Amino acid sequence: MDIKLIKKDFPIFNNDPDLVYLDSTATSLKPRPVIEKEREYYEKYSANVFRGIYKISEKATEEYEETRKIVQVFISAGSSNEIVFTRNTTESLNLVAYSLGRKIISQGDELVTTIMEHHSNFVPWQQLTLENGAILKVMDVSDEGYLDLENRHSGRRNATGAVVDRDSGHRIARASGGNQSGMTLNNLDKIITKKTKILALTYVSNVLGTINPIKAIIKAAKKINPEVIAVIDAAQAAPHMKIDVQDLGCDFLAFSSHKMLGPTGVGVLWGRYELLADMFPFNFGGEMIEEVYLDRTVFKYPPHKFEAGTPHIAGVIALKTAVEYLQNIGMEKIRQHEAQITQHALNELNRHFSGQINILGPNLAAQKGGIIAFTFGKYHSHDIAQILDEVNICVRAGNHCTMPLHDRLGVNSSVRASFYLYNTIEDVAKLITGLKKAQTILG
Ligand code: PLP
Repeated sequence: MDIKLIKKDFPIFNNDPDLVYLDSTATSLKPRPVIEKEREYYEKYSANVFRGIYKISEKATEEYEETRKIVQVFISAGSSNEIVFTRNTTESLNLVAYSLGRKIISQGDELVTTIMEHHSNFVPWQQLTLENGAILKVMDVSDEGYLDLENRHSGRRNATGAVVDRDSGHRIARASGGNQSGMTLNNLDKIITKKTKILALTYVSNVLGTINPIKAIIKAAKKINPEVIAVIDAAQAAPHMKIDVQDLGCDFLAFSSHKMLGPTGVGVLWGRYELLADMFPFNFGGEMIEEVYLDRTVFKYPPHKFEAGTPHIAGVIALKTAVEYLQNIGMEKIRQHEAQITQHALNELNRHFSGQINILGPNLAAQKGGIIAFTFGKYHSHDIAQILDEVNICVRAGNHCTMPLHDRLGVNSSVRASFYLYNTIEDVAKLITGLKKAQTILG
């Protein structure tokens, strides 16, 4: 990969050549072809989709549906009818929790998730269990940032029989401790049972960077209970590695366009067709209906049943260009580049700030995405991010929408540097220099 050439495709670097952008986990930068594709829609065929009996509307519809086909191939889905466009990963996951969750979950049922989830794959399930009297079981992580699949601590039962946290009384079953060697699937039946209806799991943690062995977990979970529905949050996986939903054996998978070079305001939900077909719509309105009478409505088949109202047409159309851009480079090469730069950054951070820096999650790039979150001495993450910003380095500071994980790790907040295809070894050197400056200023 020629990073210098790649950077030329990103107009933001023309405008700001010294920019060190280390926040692609929050959102990625956009290459020129994607920006131009959005513009092409507005300048050449800016009509609504599915509605017009005229050429530019037909062209817009054709381009919109082309994206569905390319996304299907991108994640190796069986049919483009399994690809639903939403606003983002958050909406995709909420759609499943609302439309499927409310249909299949009732009192006493169990949902399993993990403590490393982004709030968008945690709160929808938590709220569902609170509403329906179901039980939320939360897999813990080891201190090293790997899933503790043994679930060695399963809380206590309250008067209603729900499993609750021993300390707070919250309705969960929380595992504890463990380390990488605790990553065995042999004891998964301590957490996945015949009552488990949903397994909601992130592919790559947006803080620890940990790449979870989701294929093995899904296989083991379905062996215990074939009815378990596996919902995968791929927000930090789809932009960075090859995904094959059929090989993974999952039932739903969600990701966002804006994290993979595409426009904001577009998300993808992939679901197995028979599950989508059986689900109630999430929103009602235009273009999701077949027939409407005064007393009843016949809905369209998936995916259109889930796409009520005018979508982000330009965004969906330009997502196709983003996918093509990634495919032209090759997902394997992108992953390789990120792993190299991440390992280099881990080595440099540990070398320069030994004893002061606390990396959250694995220290080995082979086991994580291009994400390094850390705490640094006694300094507050916001102070560090502000000083880095003074030298034009963008990092994220805070809890990164993972409060339960930060609580579990015993930290209030962390600094997060993340890498994508346009980041270089020089960016890492600048980060180190910036952190030294922060050290000097903060004392
Ligand atoms: N899941 C993970 C792992 C994330 O990192 C994010 C965003 O950072 C989300 C979900 C939510 O994505 P969005 O804000 O695009 O809905």
